[in-house]
Amino acid sequence: MTAGVVASLTDFRRALVAWYRRHARPLPWRATRDPYQIWISEIMLQQTTVTAVVPYFQRFLARFPTLQDLAAAQEQSVLRLWEGLGYYSRARNIHKAARLLVNEHRGEFPREPGELMALPGIGRYTAGAIASFAFDWPAPIVEANTLRLYARLMGLRDDPRSARGQKQLWEFAEQIVPARHAGEFNQALMELGARVCVPSAPDCSKCPVRRWCVAATNGWQAEIPLPKPRAAPTEITEVAVAVHRDGKYLLRKRPEGVRWAGLWDFVRFGWRDAETRSPALHDVAVEVRRETGLTVEITAPLAEIRHSVTRFRITLQCHLGEWLAGEHDHAQGESRWVASTQFARLPLSVTGRKLARMIAARESKSTSASKRPG
Ligand code: SF4
Repeated sequence: MTAGVVASLTDFRRALVAWYRRHARPLPWRATRDPYQIWISEIMLQQTTVTAVVPYFQRFLARFPTLQDLAAAQEQSVLRLWEGLGYYSRARNIHKAARLLVNEHRGEFPREPGELMALPGIGRYTAGAIASFAFDWPAPIVEANTLRLYARLMGLRDDPRSARGQKQLWEFAEQIVPARHAGEFNQALMELGARVCVPSAPDCSKCPVRRWCVAATNGWQAEIPLPKPRAAPTEITEVAVAVHRDGKYLLRKRPEGVRWAGLWDFVRFGWRDAETRSPALHDVAVEVRRETGLTVEITAPLAEIRHSVTRFRITLQCHLGEWLAGEHDHAQGESRWVASTQFARLPLSVTGRKLARMIAARESKSTSASKRPG
C-alpha cells in the first residue's frame, strides 16, 4: 500500500482508531494532554521498554510535578532519579531544555514541531509525538514500532534506516496522519506496532488494517523490515577501585563527553591488556596512581561484574584500595571523599551503584562483627 493509492484512507484511519479504543493499554502518560508529562515519557521511552519506564515516570513526576520544578532542580538530582535508565544524556538534555523553556518561553511548550526540535534532545519523532499527543498538531511520527508497521504496510524493500528508506517512511507518515485528532491516531499506530505488528510473527489475524497491508498480502512479514546489521560484540575488561581513606571513598564526577557524563564514579579505567582478564593487584595500584596521583595498596578483589554498554561486553574487575599517600589530582576533574552512608545522595552508574552496595554491606558486616561479644 502507498497512501496515495489507498482506496479509502478514511476507512484505514477509522479501523485503526476503533481497534485502539478497544485495546489501548492504560499507560500513565496516555491519561494526560500535558506536554510536560508527554515529553518526559517520550524521552524516557527512547531505547527503553514501557515496563521499565512506568516506575521511573511516576517517581519523576512525583518529584518534579511541573516544568518549573524541573528547571529549578540541580542536575545531580535529575541524574539521581534517572539512575538505572541509562543514556544519561537524555536526563541532562531534559534539564537543559526545562531551563530554556522557563527562561525563554515563559514556561510554555511550543506547539509547532519545528520549534520543539530546537530544544536539546528533541528530534523529529519526539517533536511530532509531543505536538500531536498534547496539541493534536497533525505531525507525522516514525519510531521503532511505527517504522516496522509502515514498512510492512508499504511493502518497503529498502533498508528502513537508510536515507532512502527514512525518506519513504516519513513521506508515508505525512500522508496518513489526519488533519484532526492526530494525537489519538499516532498513539494507535504505535500501539498496533507494539502489540500486533511485532518484530517476529506479527499477529496478522488480529490486525485491524490487514486489508491495506502489502506484506501480509504477499506473505512478506518475516522479511520486512530488513534487519539491522549488528556489529559483533567486543569483549573488554575494565577495573573499578574503591579507594578508601579515613572511613570515606573517593568518588569522581565523570566529565563532559564521556560515557555517563555528570554521574559520579569510583576510580575506573579500561584495562589495556585484553588478554589479562584479572590484572595483578600491583598493576592495578600502578594504574590508580597514574589516573589519580594517589598511592594505594590494593587490599581486596571485591567482585567481577559483567555488563554490556552498546556493543561492548564488559568484564568489570572491582577492587578495594587503601589510600597510602598523595592528593587527588584536581586537574582530572571534580572529586569527593564520601562515606558509604552518603552514597545514596549521588547519581552513580548501575555498576557503580552495585559496587557502592557491596561496600556498604561489607562495612555493616564488619561493624556487626566488631560489636559481637567476644
Ligand atoms: Fe503488520 Fe500483519 Fe498488520 Fe501487516 S497485517 S500491518 S504485517 S500485523
